[in-house]
Amino acid sequence: MKGKFSKRLNYLLYPRGYAIAINISIIVLLSLLVYIFVYQTGGTKYVYSHSTYLPIIFASVVFGVKGGLLTGIVCGILLGPLMPLDTKTGEAQQAMNWVYRMVIFVVVGTFSGYMANAFRYNTKRIIDYLTHNQETGIPNISVLTKNYLIKEVLDDENTELAFSILINKYENIIEVISRDYYNDLIKQIYNNLREALPQESQIIQSATDKFWVAIKEPNVEENINKVLKTLNVSYYVNKIPLFVTFSIGVCRHRSLYSLLDTFRNADVSARRAQKYNVPYLIFQNEHLESFRNIELLGMFRNALHQEELELFYQPKIALDTCKPVAIETLLRWNHPKQGEIKPLEIIPLIEETELINTLTYWVLKRSLETVSNLAKLDIKMQISINISPKNLLDSNFIDRVIDLVDHYNIDNECIEFEITESALIENLDLCRKLLELIKKYHICLSIDDFGIGYSSLSYLSNLPVDIVKIDRFFINQMTKEKAVRHIVQSTIELVHDLGMKVVAEGVENQEQLEILKAMNCDYAQGYLFAKPMSETDLINWYLEYHKHERIY
Ligand code: C2E
Ligand code: CA
Ligand code: CA
Repeated sequence: MKGKFSKRLNYLLYPRGYAIAINISIIVLLSLLVYIFVYQTGGTKYVYSHSTYLPIIFASVVFGVKGGLLTGIVCGILLGPLMPLDTKTGEAQQAMNWVYRMVIFVVVGTFSGYMANAFRYNTKRIIDYLTHNQETGIPNISVLTKNYLIKEVLDDENTELAFSILINKYENIIEVISRDYYNDLIKQIYNNLREALPQESQIIQSATDKFWVAIKEPNVEENINKVLKTLNVSYYVNKIPLFVTFSIGVCRHRSLYSLLDTFRNADVSARRAQKYNVPYLIFQNEHLESFRNIELLGMFRNALHQEELELFYQPKIALDTCKPVAIETLLRWNHPKQGEIKPLEIIPLIEETELINTLTYWVLKRSLETVSNLAKLDIKMQISINISPKNLLDSNFIDRVIDLVDHYNIDNECIEFEITESALIENLDLCRKLLELIKKYHICLSIDDFGIGYSSLSYLSNLPVDIVKIDRFFINQMTKEKAVRHIVQSTIELVHDLGMKVVAEGVENQEQLEILKAMNCDYAQGYLFAKPMSETDLINWYLEYHKHERIY
């Protein structure tokens, strides 16, 4: 009811299109009715001529000063020379009388029009104040929760997809560039989205580090790509290039939910995307999702015993000699009914449970078996194993690793553990102690997915780390964005200054390789050299590679 009332008031105060025509018709009709009424009741000598204030005030409210003034003149004429003083006797008005009345009409019309304009202007300002972020001027969450008298009220019917866009590590950005420049960055992001997305999409800054976007088109993939493309560009603030990454959650809007609920669902997925370091996640019904998770975990317990798991290996190439010097172990799960299940779908779930220790132990054992098989063929390469922080917390972990290494008679230096930067930073002090412990056994340590967290690099100098793996996102963007190339270059320099080596991940083409060589990068890994492959394929690849003495 309240909503309907304010909607009507909105039409009245801000008439558009056909509402203008209707309001003009009402004014004309009211003026004519008043004219007829005054005529029928005996002319201007009676009190009824005061009814003229009705159309005048209506016009001034709707059309402001101009409306009030014009209607005042028209009504002044209607009740002036066109109306006798007394219709029965036909006695005409004195010119002085009707001119004076017309002046009063005009003054009243102009004044009330001015007041209506002032009211309109001030309510607009108050509404702007309440519905826009004070620092950036971008619409805020109130446009969703309050039914204000404004045009921009977010429309449920106009939303098919809701996006929640989080700016990763925004506190670090603010720390580095100050709040004012951060707000400039927010405005840039907003303007880019505004330009790229269709007119009817709505963009809200719903928190310091978050945008909500409502899009009308239902095509999920197309819209995600469009949003990703728009966001992943170079940002310059005060001429300083900034590298900004985002975590996006997407939720389809269903009438079952309010729009606010839909955005909250998108928020859940965005936080999850941030946690798992993926660019976006699509919200699935929570119940379904947790059901799927429980199912996956249940299936995984069996998989460990039923030989559904397999390890693939991907070589790392030393850029100075062009020789493969190490292999990274990557898990593959071939489910008999569901086909291949991606590591990123299952490993984050396993990491939440104790199963991660069983899995890592299994991976280690199989990997070391492979290393000893390779050694029999006189193939000597270091092996990199992805480990999770939970492994470090297991007090038996390092003892079990050393037992296995002894069992397969492998040098400790041949083993490398990769641990993701985000996992490290979450628990920096504890991880440092545990890594120092591992280092005592001369096992190599590397930081995986480096750079994605937009972290300050200073923490690196205090860690007993040998290698830094620059995330493949940077390698991919490096050929497209100058700013990213600078980031890669300075990361390599800094890592070298700290006496560590650099691996570039996800090298897919010659151009990327040339740039990396010019930057003095130590190792590279990626589809350009080889995709992850089974042990047998790896052996064949290695022999073939050596036969042809490949030079990249
Ligand atoms: P990661 O450690 O960053 O592994 C690199 C990922 O990039 C692998 O995906 C690999 O197949 C892919 N990749 C390699 N070269 C290229 C390239 O040139 N282009 C592109 N586009 N991709 C490339 P994968 O195998 O799907 O593994 C995903 C993630 O799952 C891994 O990321 C790692 O974090 C995790 N993971 C895999 N195996 C294990 C494991 O045994 N234990 C643990 N804890 N995590 C694992
Ligand atoms: Ca890795
Ligand atoms: Ca990686």
